[in-house]
Amino acid sequence: MCGIVGYIGARDAYPILIKGLKRLEYRGYDSAGLALVTNSDQLAVYKTKGKVADLEHYVLDKDITGSMGIAHTRWATHGEPSDANAHPHYSQSGHLALIHNGIIENYPVLKENLVQNGYTFRSNTDTEVLVQLIEYIMFTHGIDLFHAVQLSLTQVVGAYAIAVIERNNPNAIVAARKSSPLVIGIGEGEYFLGSDASPIIEYTKKVVYVNDDEVVCLRRDREPQFYNLNRVEKSHRIIELEMTLSQLEKGGYPHFMLKEIFEQPHTIRECMRGRVNVEHNSITLSGIIDNRERFLKARRIIIVACGTSWHAGLIGKYLIESFARVPVEVEYASEFRYRNPVLYDDDIVVAISQSGETADTLAAVELARSRNVFVYGVCNVVGSSIPRRTHSGSYTHAGPEIGVASTKAFTAQVTVLALMALCMARERKTLPQPEFEHLVAGLAAIPAKMEETLQVSDFIKKFSCIFTYAHNFIYLGRGYNFPVALEGALKLKEISYIHAEGYPAAEMKHGPIALIDQEMPVVVVAPNNKSMYEKVVSNIHEIKARKGRVVAIITRGDTVIKEMADYFIEIPPAEECFVPLLAVIPLQLMAYHIAIVKDRNVDQPRNLAKSVTVE
Ligand code: GLU
Repeated sequence: MCGIVGYIGARDAYPILIKGLKRLEYRGYDSAGLALVTNSDQLAVYKTKGKVADLEHYVLDKDITGSMGIAHTRWATHGEPSDANAHPHYSQSGHLALIHNGIIENYPVLKENLVQNGYTFRSNTDTEVLVQLIEYIMFTHGIDLFHAVQLSLTQVVGAYAIAVIERNNPNAIVAARKSSPLVIGIGEGEYFLGSDASPIIEYTKKVVYVNDDEVVCLRRDREPQFYNLNRVEKSHRIIELEMTLSQLEKGGYPHFMLKEIFEQPHTIRECMRGRVNVEHNSITLSGIIDNRERFLKARRIIIVACGTSWHAGLIGKYLIESFARVPVEVEYASEFRYRNPVLYDDDIVVAISQSGETADTLAAVELARSRNVFVYGVCNVVGSSIPRRTHSGSYTHAGPEIGVASTKAFTAQVTVLALMALCMARERKTLPQPEFEHLVAGLAAIPAKMEETLQVSDFIKKFSCIFTYAHNFIYLGRGYNFPVALEGALKLKEISYIHAEGYPAAEMKHGPIALIDQEMPVVVVAPNNKSMYEKVVSNIHEIKARKGRVVAIITRGDTVIKEMADYFIEIPPAEECFVPLLAVIPLQLMAYHIAIVKDRNVDQPRNLAKSVTVE
C-alpha cells in the first residue's frame, strides 16, 4: 500500500510525478504529496489530505519548478488521513524530505531517542522518525545523505520502500527497500523510481527491481549505484519490461474494474497460451515439469494466500485433490505465518498473490523457506517479490490489474491452479487418458464461454437497481462453487459497502437461514452439474419457503430453477470443475452495477488499497 514515485533528470519533474501518482493511486488515496528541489534551490513540500486531484488543485499557485522530486499517495497505517500525516515528511531543519511505503515497527523507541535529542514531530506517523533519524545521523556523524541512509536503516525494524531528497543537493535521490516494493527506471540521463513500473513505463522499459536491504543512489550524471547496508556495492540486473502503456489505461470503459471484467476471455487465453495444446492433448507448465520429482513425491500441498487469492486457492484445493489426488490445505497467509505449522520436507507450499508483494504471503513464503520446504508462486506481477523468493512458479499473465477489487486476476489464478492440477495429474497418472483429454478441451473452451457469459452485463445492469435497498446479501454455492459464493460476497462488500456473507449452501441450515425473510436477497450459484444440482434445488426450496428472494446463476436451458427463482442469470454449460470461471462473472458484474447505482467509487473503494504490502 502507498505508492511512491521519484524522478531525476533534465525534464520538469512535476508532471512526471503527478502522472505517476495517478497510476499508483490504486495503492492508496488517503492523501497525496510531493517534494521538489525548485529552480530557486528551495525544498518545496506540498501535501494534502485527499486524492491526487486535490494535490493538483492545492499546488495551482505554488512553485512547481525543478527537475528532481519525489511524490507519495498514502494508505494510512499510523495516524489518520490528514494534511500533517501526508507524505513527504521533512526533517527538523527543513533540509530533507522523505516518502515511505511500509511500517516502521520500532518507531516509538527511535522517536523517544530523537525527542531526547531535541527533535520535535509534526505528524502521528511512524514514517516521520525516519527523516529525523537520517538528519540526526548526518549531523552527528558529519556524513552525506547516502551514507546516513545506510547507517540509519541498520537501526530500523519494519518494512520500507523510501526515497529521500536534500535541499542542498539537487543532484541525488537516495532510495532503499526492505519488504516493500521498489523499482528503478533507467532512462537516458534520467532515472525514475516507483512502487511498481506503472509510473515508469511511459519513459523507459528498462528497470531494476531493488532487493531487500539495498540502498540506491540516483544521480543525473551517472548510472545508479546499489549498496547494501554495510556499504558494499551490489551488482544489479536491468530487465526489459513487457508491459504496454495501453494496459494501464481505461480503453473507453468508465472504470478499470469493468474493463478488467471484460478482459477475462483475453487474459485466460493469455494465461493458457503455450501451456495448453488441445490438438496434442497436452498441458505444459514448466514450473511443474522442471520440478517433476517433487510434485510426484509431494506429501501435501499447502496453499497460502489472502483475500480473493485465498478464494482462488480454495478452488485450487478442489481441483488438485480431485485430479491429482494430493491432499491440499488452504491457509490464510496471515495466520500461517504466525503459528508454528507442521511442515514436512516433502510438502509443497503454493503462495498465491496478484501483486506478488502481499506482505503476509511473502512472510509465509519466508517461513516455508526457513523450514526447507519447496515454495511455488502463483503471481501476476512479473519480477515482484514473491516470484523472486519462491523456488519455482507460474505467472498468471493477466496483465496489470488496476481496479482495487480483483476480477481478472482471480480467474487467471483459478486457471493456473487448474493447469497445475492437470499437469500434476498427468505426471502422477491419476486421471484416465480420456478424462484428461476431455478436461483439457473443456478448459480450452472456457474463454469463448466467458465471452458469452459477459453478454449478461446489460441485463444485470437493469436488474441491479432492484437491490440497492438491501443492507445484507447471502451468497450460496456448493462444491467448486462454494468459493465462488465467497468471492461474490467479497466483491459486493468491497465496492458497494453492502454487508454480504458467502456460505456453502448446505450450511445455511446451521444458522444463516434465521436471517432469511422477504427482504433478504439470496444469490445462489446453481449450475446444472450432476453432483450437486438436486441438493441445490432443495436449498432453493428452503429459501423460498421462508420468502427469501432468490437470484440464481443457472446453466442455460435449466427450466426447473428458472421457475423457482425470483431472478435468474444464465451461463453456458461447462464441466463442473471449470464452472467457477464462468459463474463468478455475473457476480462481479452484479457487484459492479449495484455499486454504480449506489454511486460508489468502484475503482477506489473506501479504506481499501490494492497491493497489501503491510501486515
Ligand atoms: N506507515 C506509513 C503511514 O502511515 C506508510 C503507510 C503505507 O505504506 O501503507 O503514513
